[in-house]
Amino acid sequence: MLQIVSYPHPALRYVSRPVTEIDDGLRETVKSMFELLYAAKGIGLAANQVSLPFRFFILNLTADPAQTDKEQVFINPVITKRHLSIEDEEGCLSLPEIHVDVKRARKIKFQAYDLAGNLVEYEADELFSRAVQHESDHLDGRLIIDNLEPLILRETAPKLRELELTYQRAQASGELSSNEDIVKQLATMKRPSPDLVIEPTPG
Ligand code: ZN
Repeated sequence: MLQIVSYPHPALRYVSRPVTEIDDGLRETVKSMFELLYAAKGIGLAANQVSLPFRFFILNLTADPAQTDKEQVFINPVITKRHLSIEDEEGCLSLPEIHVDVKRARKIKFQAYDLAGNLVEYEADELFSRAVQHESDHLDGRLIIDNLEPLILRETAPKLRELELTYQRAQASGELSSNEDIVKQLATMKRPSPDLVIEPTPG
């Protein structure tokens, strides 16, 4: 079973690898990710947020499971143009209860493969632009808590500390593997498929 991992899980700092094959395994994974996205009431989810070290993310800007026509999948995305900048509040499913202002490009151009294997070019602004930049950052191991101003960082620190303690407790109880094992598994995972989910190593 895939699940959304929270800060400070090492998958969130992992620079993801390109997807090399768009196959049924990937399509199944994407389906599971949409289920997780809706359950968490989010609008976007990157593969490394479910501990899969590959460059793709999903969006449904409506967050409405009934609007399947608004589901979008972006594989190996590359932002080719950034225009102007704008600051607005963002949250992240891997950073529960944390909301911070993040400066983003106002408009972007980007390209990505879709699930049918077509390379598509997009122009994005407003929420679409912000979401694509947020998810693209994930694929490079970046989070909204990076580059916070000192004052905001100080306000956020107790919540981050709480997440760190929860994570350490999960590792201590054997619910999660050690960071070393997780990173080893991320590095050796060959392709995104639902059966390739990191399980704690016994002992
Ligand atoms: Zn996020």
